[in-house]
Amino acid sequence: MAATAPSLPNDILIHAPGVREAAYWHKEPGGKVVCDLCAQLCKINEGHVGVCGVRKVMGDKLYTLVYALPSAGHIDPIEKKPLYHFHPTTRVLSFGTIGCNMRCRHCQNFEISQARPDVTKVQGLPANYLQSVPPEDVVSLIERTGAQGIAWTYNEPTIWFETNVEGCRRAHEAGYYAVWVSNGFATEEPMREIAPYLDAINIDVKAFTDNFYRKVSNARLQPVLDCVELCLELGIHTELTYLIIPGENDEPQEIRNFCRWVAEVPGDLTATHFSRFHPDYKMMDKGETPAKTLEMAYAIAKEEGLKYVYNGNIDDPAREMTYCHHCGAVNMKRRWFDTTPLFKIRSVGDDGEKGAFCRECDKRLPIVLPKDAERRIRPSIGVIQSIYDACVPDHPLRK
Ligand code: SF4
Repeated sequence: MAATAPSLPNDILIHAPGVREAAYWHKEPGGKVVCDLCAQLCKINEGHVGVCGVRKVMGDKLYTLVYALPSAGHIDPIEKKPLYHFHPTTRVLSFGTIGCNMRCRHCQNFEISQARPDVTKVQGLPANYLQSVPPEDVVSLIERTGAQGIAWTYNEPTIWFETNVEGCRRAHEAGYYAVWVSNGFATEEPMREIAPYLDAINIDVKAFTDNFYRKVSNARLQPVLDCVELCLELGIHTELTYLIIPGENDEPQEIRNFCRWVAEVPGDLTATHFSRFHPDYKMMDKGETPAKTLEMAYAIAKEEGLKYVYNGNIDDPAREMTYCHHCGAVNMKRRWFDTTPLFKIRSVGDDGEKGAFCRECDKRLPIVLPKDAERRIRPSIGVIQSIYDACVPDHPLRK
């Protein structure tokens, strides 16, 4: 499936900012170019772009139109991705560009995900709000902003792979972490290429039926599930998000099927985030997800044996906390993106690796910490723990 884009002559466009030959494509015997970067596997005619709108065939070659061109950049708490079990309380430099390989009718970032490069301007790219940030600058930007890592987020990172594989590599090799927030639709080969430099990923499982993916997102479910498995096989810390949309993916049985799959495949220790929908883009006819639906999903997940379940985009402190999967003690208190770690930190290897241990039963928790966790993880755990013990001696959701 492909769409038409207005175009400058190729000989001008290929020299425009942001345009460079793409990775992961091949030419079919019949002459069409096939993009192999994501499971859409677009077959693209000369002068056309793929579903994502940012990869174009010119002169029998595939080009990215958004190399090093973010549309948005912010410093975010890592919890906002959401990643709750990875370097908690750290700040992450976050970039997104425009375009997306899915067409979700409810997209909450549709202004950028459904935007397309404006190649009609005389100067070619960038479109109005794209600015150049080459991957060579990523490390100095992280340093200057005081962040501890880089995130590729806001729109789908896969579709500007050429930029962020290089950005991830440079960040990772300089001792910072690199993460993706993704719809999990990338193909296997690029994920294998980026895996050595990609420390963590949050993958949206948007529903647990193929029908939803086809109808709402112009995509399919199975490649997403395959991508989750692959990320785990490749050793990437993986968390999952399921946005619950009233009347679309909120049937108890569908949520139960999702939770059973999480328990069986990624495993019961996988941090699983249920998120509240609010009306947006082409889905303005639905209301917000009722609090009761989120509570129901949380309860189902617990019944299916998931140990680390979180409800987000809603003020529900009890379902945002991290409870030890051995004894049930609260080990991270959370209010929106404000996290208070309560666990103990100890060395777990000769190379200085640090582990998180339950503040009560002293068993290891599935939380990835930086090597300098004592310094980076705020605040003073002993003080906070005693305050917390006094205020919340026994939480209602403690198992
Ligand atoms: S990244 Fe995906 S959507 Fe974009 S052109 Fe390639 S296959 Fe198509």
